[in-house]
Amino acid sequence: MIIDLHIHTNKSKCADPRMTLGAIVTSAINRGLEGVGLTDHWHPITDKTIFFENQKERDALGDLPLTVWLGVEADVLTLDGTIVGEDEFDIPVDFVVAGVHHFHLPWIEGPAKDEPLEEALHRAHRQVLGAIHNPLVDALAHPWSGLAKYTKFADFRYEHVKLEWLEEEAAAAKKAQKPLEIPTWTLVDCDGTMSESFLAAIVRPLIKYGCPLYVGTDAHRPERVGAGVRETLDILLAEGAAPEQLWMPQAIQSRRW
Ligand SMILES: [Zn+2]
Ligand SMILES: [Zn+2]
Repeated sequence: MIIDLHIHTNKSKCADPRMTLGAIVTSAINRGLEGVGLTDHWHPITDKTIFFENQKERDALGDLPLTVWLGVEADVLTLDGTIVGEDEFDIPVDFVVAGVHHFHLPWIEGPAKDEPLEEALHRAHRQVLGAIHNPLVDALAHPWSGLAKYTKFADFRYEHVKLEWLEEEAAAAKKAQKPLEIPTWTLVDCDGTMSESFLAAIVRPLIKYGCPLYVGTDAHRPERVGAGVRETLDILLAEGAAPEQLWMPQAIQSRRW
């Protein structure tokens, strides 16, 4: 299924004001997507009513040629995988994505700046494992590529991520059936070139270890909705991912609401 499971509406403050649900759906249909997942940020400062508004808007859409899932990208607050909203998790969503490696945000417990890179990366790995083990979490947004994007560690490269960590993450993710995101923006650049280092150091091992995966754009503006999803899926399948390795949220849709 051609689906983009990481999209921010304009209710995420960092998103383009044009990101209405209508605009997202139109962009997705124009790209030939079969489904979209709305994943607005849930920070400790977020007004939770935005998730109820998304629900209302989604329910008002009527019949569409694609599925619209309600999701959330919840900050992982601590290195052991605690997410925001644990004490009162009452938002109407079909799936919960843990935003791992949001280390640039001030309320996130990240590795210390002066830590040696290997130790810091080991803690980042522990955060991924912690989020997988968190019962509230269904999927993990941008593991490792989020670290590369927002990193405090200027000399970080994907090659620094140890295979044994990926193997452990993949095994935990497989056991819990919680997919790790393959972000289109990491694997395929806007000009269509592929990141060989991300593919070789992260994607291939995760495929090999049988890790459940999903594809997301992290779109913050309409032009990015679904961008690179087809290409990324083609790469994953060409690299040997089994179709059943590619996760979608519908199986859990009835679980919460
Ligand atoms: Zn994120
Ligand atoms: Zn995001």
